[in-house]
Amino acid sequence: MKEKKAGWKELPEGDVLEGASSLKFRTGNWRNRRPVHISERCINCFICWVSCPDGAVKVDSETGKFGHFDYDFCKGCGICAYECPKKAIEMVDDEG
Ligand code: SF4
Ligand code: SF4
Repeated sequence: MKEKKAGWKELPEGDVLEGASSLKFRTGNWRNRRPVHISERCINCFICWVSCPDGAVKVDSETGKFGHFDYDFCKGCGICAYECPKKAIEMVDDEG
């Protein structure tokens, strides 16, 4: 007699935890390079802020200017450095 294969509904779920859980995944620990901000060159255009896929570029709420990188979530992709029109972000090796 032919064995019946499991249907897709019987397959175990893979790596599904819960909804809206992105803040629990500290993607910063994937990083082997990190962005460094060079404030003297920055014109606060926020192209880096718009470009970052992880929301890891933070604006200083008091000055309304570039604030910092959130290294808990920055995964070192380098898009911000690539897009910056003033070369005000440099990617360096991440020793940590
Ligand atoms: S893209 Fe470059 S110049 Fe514009 S805010 Fe970011 S670091 Fe500053
Ligand atoms: S390196 Fe990538 S993840 Fe990190 S701040 Fe720049 S764009 Fe965002």
